[in-house]
Amino acid sequence: MALVFSFDKMLSMEESLVASREDKQWQHHKANKQMRLVRKQIKRNRSPKPARRRDWVPDSLDDPDAVSELSLPASERVMPRGERERRQSVMQEALARLEGKETADAASHQEGPSTQRGTVIEVSTSLCRVQSRDQVLVCHLRGSLSAEDTGFTNIVAVGDRVLISQDGHDSGVVEQVLPRKSVLVRPDVFHSHLQQVIVANADQLLVVASWRDPAFWPELVDRYLITAERNNLTPILCVNKVDLAEDMADCQAAVQPYLQLGYQVLLTSAVEGHGIERVRGVLAGKTTVLAGMSGVGKSSLLAVVQPGLRLRIGEISERRHEGRHTTSQVNLIALQIGGFVVDTPGIREFGLGGLQRAELVRFYPDIQAAAARCRFANCSHTHEPGCAVRAAVSEGTISDVRHHSYQAIYSSLPS
Ligand code: GDP
Ligand code: ZN
Repeated sequence: MALVFSFDKMLSMEESLVASREDKQWQHHKANKQMRLVRKQIKRNRSPKPARRRDWVPDSLDDPDAVSELSLPASERVMPRGERERRQSVMQEALARLEGKETADAASHQEGPSTQRGTVIEVSTSLCRVQSRDQVLVCHLRGSLSAEDTGFTNIVAVGDRVLISQDGHDSGVVEQVLPRKSVLVRPDVFHSHLQQVIVANADQLLVVASWRDPAFWPELVDRYLITAERNNLTPILCVNKVDLAEDMADCQAAVQPYLQLGYQVLLTSAVEGHGIERVRGVLAGKTTVLAGMSGVGKSSLLAVVQPGLRLRIGEISERRHEGRHTTSQVNLIALQIGGFVVDTPGIREFGLGGLQRAELVRFYPDIQAAAARCRFANCSHTHEPGCAVRAAVSEGTISDVRHHSYQAIYSSLPS
């Protein structure tokens, strides 16, 4: 398991920053961040914890409890069976309504004579970097935005669309955070009842695997595809290093089950330039989170997509990762073709935590379709007699590779 989610090299932000006046200010704020978090935690520990809500209905999507309860793994919030799903669908409806509202809101969030739109690419406690019109500005947050009780630790997250007013050559103030389309969250390390937004407004998860070195590993691919779906990110599968395949037909056969399920699949070689145009095509204009084992070629692919682009992600030891958990730096890299790549040390936090065995089949539509014909309603499709799924696998209508990873993931989940 350690190998599975042991991501990726992450050079410290300090190394990558250019030493300018703003950067010194930036680093000063970062140094104070830890201390502020500890102080806040002490304060919070003294204040009474909010009571659990029983008759849950989201009053509005600004309701932090609504978002945070759903985002937490089920194991961390005890809910009656089915309640979580009910809330999820209520929430999805509300999100759909919000999307409609957002279009209407866009008109009222237009740039004014004194404000301009931007995207937050890096965040510290009270400062952030905002990409706006080909420029990166170091911005303070307007005092009124710093209200603590939003349910999220961070008022502004990487990926947030904001309105800023420029007050210097390369500095400004964040006046307003525009409504978020989506959030990737994890429980806050210090404040257990709060959520930390890792990235806002991400669109898709590019799952990168390699054909060889390391060998294509369908179970891991499936885990990421599930992670994408659980986080409402569009999954895209990229199998890199196809130049190492003896026969390209082998790669095509391996990804066939995914194509049949409607996933977008890219076969690439960063070394030979194969499939790079398609990678550019899927990245353009979108905010993409990258996932994949270390060594599969994520950095190499991006360096070919955009020469000079260097990811900070990569191999780091588990220990170092843990140590950096609280200050784990995520930033967005703006692409020349439009869009952003999320440079994060890992998406382990958004893994399969809280997923129950019985829920797994939901993420295997191929298996779910056959499951209706199993003899037992609660068939796990691993060993039971009269299992229509296993019958379909032996007939070849369900991929045995998919069924194999289903079983492996099933047995790793809590019952
Ligand atoms: P990352 O950890 O996922 O970012 O992987 P890297 O981009 O650092 O690549 C790991 C190794 O695989 C490097 O030695 C790359 O040169 C090599 N590599 C990356 N892409 C390809 C490819 O398409 N074909 C081959 N043969 N090697 C590749
Ligand atoms: Zn079955």
